[in-house]
Amino acid sequence: MTTSLNDRIAKLIRETGPIPVSVYMQLCLHDPRQGYYSQGEGLGRDFITAPEISQVFGELIGLWCAHEWRSIGAPDPFRLVELGPGRGVLMADVLRATRAISDFHDAADLTLVEASPALRRAQIDRLKPTELTHINTIEAIPDGPILLIANEFLDCLPVRQFIRDTEQWRERVVGLSDANELVFGLSDTVPALDNTPDNAQQFEMRPSLVAIVDALAQRFANHPGRALFIDYGPADAAPDDTLRAYKNGAQISPLETPGDADLTSDVDFADLKRIALAQGLEIHGPIAQGDFLLALGAAQRAEALIRANPKEAEATADAVHRLVDSASMGVRFQAIAISSPNLPPPAGF
Ligand code: SAH
Repeated sequence: MTTSLNDRIAKLIRETGPIPVSVYMQLCLHDPRQGYYSQGEGLGRDFITAPEISQVFGELIGLWCAHEWRSIGAPDPFRLVELGPGRGVLMADVLRATRAISDFHDAADLTLVEASPALRRAQIDRLKPTELTHINTIEAIPDGPILLIANEFLDCLPVRQFIRDTEQWRERVVGLSDANELVFGLSDTVPALDNTPDNAQQFEMRPSLVAIVDALAQRFANHPGRALFIDYGPADAAPDDTLRAYKNGAQISPLETPGDADLTSDVDFADLKRIALAQGLEIHGPIAQGDFLLALGAAQRAEALIRANPKEAEATADAVHRLVDSASMGVRFQAIAISSPNLPPPAGF
């Protein structure tokens, strides 16, 4: 019988000591055999994303891409990049919505940043016959003009958590109880931290945001480009303890079934903005997803779909409403654009 990921993580902790939450997250999501994304079967079952709710989401982002391609000077060729395309639904809608814009299509070299072999296969299948290149990291995007999109990508990058223990900061770790069960605890050592919030008892930090912005800054140093990130998280407050796990659409403990549940936490948009501005990049947003999609014409697109297929009128209207409504995804999700300097403002912001 194969050893479960839970037991393999427990063995690692017994041998080397408690591990930071970020390491736990990395193992749960990306263990080559038993990681959540490596297995690739949970998407659509454990959680559902905007492109899977309504085609309108990807269609509007497709038109956004074509528009922004012109604002960066219509370079030919350019890289059309998606980070973490999941089952490829967003990119399929992007390509379909822009099919008639043939100069955009002809110029685009499709490049997908995807860690999971199973999801790579799903993306190739869905996007056939479009040729595409898979790469492992954003740093591997070749030099040249790029347009990049990423929906619900940043939230699954490993997060570190810190808690104030009397006067010292400690890092939250995953260790073992006496009964050999995974439990949260605090590091023995005091982590070296540059910026700590003054009045908080806890905070989260996502080291990979710096790496992502650095990679964009390098790409944008010699060529124009623009990146659009959509994710959930507060627009201006720093997340404190937002690590969550989802399985079969329900929230469970992050320690319950390592590798079989999606692990996620809020994106710190204020931090992302600060890092990008410090690199001399231009920022638009974050703005609420609802406002962004409505500005791009979500209501008109929904009406057109309903006219074309009146039988599905209610389902279409409900799905689009879910994307834009403030009580649903409209405000909890934010859009932010990071651009090379001296471009006109992006559509929708
Ligand atoms: N964007 C999709 C799915 C998001 S799920 C949608 O909107 O439906 C997150 C995706 O990012 C998955 O495809 C996952 O395999 C990929 N991913 C997560 N961490 C990654 C990393 N560090 N490098 C590359 N891909 C990653």
